[in-house]
Amino acid sequence: MAIKAQPLSNDIAQSGSNQSSMLVAAMAQLENAFEWLELEEGVREIIRQSERELTVSIPIQRDDGRINVFTGYRVQHSSARGPCKGGIRYHVNVDLDEVRALALLMSLKSAVARLPFGGAKGGIAVDPTSLSAAELERLTRRYAAMIRPILGAKRDIPAPDVNTNPQTMAWLMDTLAMFQGHNLPEITTGKPLSLGGSHGRTEATGRGVAIATIEILKRLGRNPKGTEIAIQGFGNVGSHAASILSEEFQCKIVAISDESGGIYSQSGLDVTKIVQQFKAHPGLLLSDYQIDGFDRISNDELLVLDVDVLIPAAMEDQITVRNADQIVAQIIVEGANGPTTLEADRILRERSVHVVPDVLANAGGVICSYFEWVQDRQMYFWDLEEVRSKLLMAMQKAFEEVWAMADENKLDMRTAAYSLAVQRVAEAIQQRGLFP
Ligand code: GLU
Repeated sequence: MAIKAQPLSNDIAQSGSNQSSMLVAAMAQLENAFEWLELEEGVREIIRQSERELTVSIPIQRDDGRINVFTGYRVQHSSARGPCKGGIRYHVNVDLDEVRALALLMSLKSAVARLPFGGAKGGIAVDPTSLSAAELERLTRRYAAMIRPILGAKRDIPAPDVNTNPQTMAWLMDTLAMFQGHNLPEITTGKPLSLGGSHGRTEATGRGVAIATIEILKRLGRNPKGTEIAIQGFGNVGSHAASILSEEFQCKIVAISDESGGIYSQSGLDVTKIVQQFKAHPGLLLSDYQIDGFDRISNDELLVLDVDVLIPAAMEDQITVRNADQIVAQIIVEGANGPTTLEADRILRERSVHVVPDVLANAGGVICSYFEWVQDRQMYFWDLEEVRSKLLMAMQKAFEEVWAMADENKLDMRTAAYSLAVQRVAEAIQQRGLFP
């Protein structure tokens, strides 16, 4: 496949369609990669579409006896390079377009990291905080049963995503195992350790974000020690990235936030202490966190702080035309999926801000999911140090390949990552040929 430099085009998305902005951005960036690779039209057409999309109506009985019906999805974007792989999220904003975009990102993420997986995503449009634990369990089990026809350890392997966790995966795995009649650890990843989960899986996305941050700092000749970092989002990704960057690399985390707002300290936050508090009090929000030594800021203020590195690790569409011009950080490491809209991405590129794109920066989660799947299939388990060292190697390798591609061809890292990934997916499609 010939690779030739082309001017980047971001016009595709300005057509006024009402697709989700994440899907618009992902599709436009995909088109950039197609053009750049001079990919044949037929293969473009295959990659533009999801392979399979399933929408389900999930009825559950509430604790008070009422019945509510929720809408769920599982979208398989591509199985060209291996079984489809991707998380399941519970959020009110989940819809088919969002899940489509996220499934596409998973195909690219697996390809960037050279994992033998394709891409998928699932989700339920629900506010999980409005359900009791028993209701959430019933919702998860019914959803698992309804998407079961398209799942499988060699077909499609779910994992946690926004508002889902090892407990969700345990319910999902147990439900599928009940149908099967035997234990099925390899049907999902991100499980509790006691059910065949992997050491290091919970921290893996945050650790991968930390590794990506250190790699970009090294490439730009910056010393990580004392580097000022603001992190939007203090869930699984943001909190682990914050701890690892401050404890293992002596970075200065000056601001963090969650849905309730943020906190800022010019001299650096004691992340270890904050994380301990959050572990001791599940459900705690930063607005409830009472201790002196910091200023309260909003999520919008956090994004435009005068820091070296900004890590958006919350939800999609956070860096937009409204704030892209005001962002001071010269480095952005995308911990969340799709945090930057298409137009904002163009503005950041024009301003020469270094953006480590989501398909590379947050690949640590799916890399460790791959390790979990391998361990489950072999029934042979690794210790934490082995997982961490393999994750470090995999992240560094993926980073180096994207960096080299960007550097040699004078591309931004997102176009480089998309092009590498699309090239790998396209090659698999071309080599397999069409059935029948
Ligand atoms: N939900 C994570 C992601 O977006 C992990 C997916 C997986 O491990 O399959 O990358």
